[in-house]
Order: sequence, then C-alpha cells, then structure tokens
Amino acid sequence: MTTTGQPQADCLFCKIVSGEVPATVVRETETTVAFRDINPQAPTHVLVIPKVHHRDAAALAAADPQIVADLLVEAGKVAADDKVDATGYRVVFNTGTGAGQTVFHAHAHVLGGRGLNWPPG
Ligand code: AMP
Ligand code: ZN
Repeated sequence: MTTTGQPQADCLFCKIVSGEVPATVVRETETTVAFRDINPQAPTHVLVIPKVHHRDAAALAAADPQIVADLLVEAGKVAADDKVDATGYRVVFNTGTGAGQTVFHAHAHVLGGRGLNWPPG
C-alpha cells in the first residue's frame, strides 16, 4: 500500500523529506517541504510536498485535509518569495499517469515567471 501516511522506502519524495536525497529546498514547515523541480518548466517551478506519504492529492485530502491547506498556503508563499504572485502563477496536482504524474507522493507544482497557456496541454 502506498497511501498510509508512513514513509515508503522506495519513494523519491520520502527520501527528499528525510534528507537521503538532496534537493534545493526553498521553504519548510512542520508538515511540508518546498524544493525546486530538477527539470523546471518555467522560471519558477517549485514542488510543495507533504512530509507524510500519500499517493496523490485526493488521497492526502481524504486522510488529512489540513495538510492540503498547508500545501496551498506554502504555494502562495513560494510565489511571493519568487515575486511571481503579482504576475500570476499556477498550482497543479497531476493525478494519475494519464495526467503526467510520475512520482506517486502527493505534490503541488508551483509554476510562474512566464506566460501560462489556458487550457494547459
Ligand atoms: P509529476 O510528473 O507531476 O509526478 O511531477 C514530478 C516532478 O518531480 C517532475 O516535474 C520532475 O521533474 C520532478 N523531480 C523528479 N526527481 C526530482 C528530484 N530529485 N528533485 C527535484 N525534482 C524532481
Ligand atoms: Zn513518499
């Protein structure tokens, strides 16, 4: 099972939370970590993740809705820190392989610093 809230030995983002895998961390709270995406798709591309392991945003919301709120508060602070809040930014939760999810530990992408098309591809 991957929706336990417990660290998963084979999960890349659990390893970033523990420090086993390095990341460029820009913010951290009691419940969240925010770090720069290794393959940025915009000038600002930061991932905000819960410290607890759940496979996607919906599973996290079902288990602990307060932490979803924490992710969104932190997403806003990331945008403000990078000064993209005034021009606009996007918060994305890819959910499922068909939507591009490749890491099955819930995470919010914060994208900004360039024009963002709507609808997204
Ligand atoms: P997703 O495809 O929505 O599951 O998002 C996973 C994201 O994690 C992708 O944008 C990857 O570029 C990013 N990523 C993968 N490995 C790392 C890493 N070691 N450090 C930072 N970001 C990573
Ligand atoms: Zn994990």
